[in-house]
Amino acid sequence: MTGETGMIKIKVPRGIKIGAFDYKVKFTNFLKSDEGWRASCNQRRALIEVDPAGGDTINRSFLHEIIHLIDFSYECNLDEANTSRIANGLAEFLERNLNIELDWSDIHGNTE
Ligand SMILES: [Zn+2]
Repeated sequence: MTGETGMIKIKVPRGIKIGAFDYKVKFTNFLKSDEGWRASCNQRRALIEVDPAGGDTINRSFLHEIIHLIDFSYECNLDEANTSRIANGLAEFLERNLNIELDWSDIHGNTE
């Protein structure tokens, strides 16, 4: 689907498979103010949480968590700074080159 901006909207799925793992994706309000993160991933709970108040930064924060999970599954040994660098580069590639915009309309809030 192409929006007014010419961007192709791709829905963020509620479930993501990376390596041998299945993760749920959900919005958690006040994650930033309560935990200090705009997004987080938890392997034990198989959960990716994103603070919906992140505005324009939520895509990059989400991709950052995806890179962490790729790192975990494929043992890349990335540190935090390199995780952010790769996430930002990937976001740039998706937005500027593939014209892909993430659509969060299927992602639900705090109730698991
Ligand atoms: Zn991180």
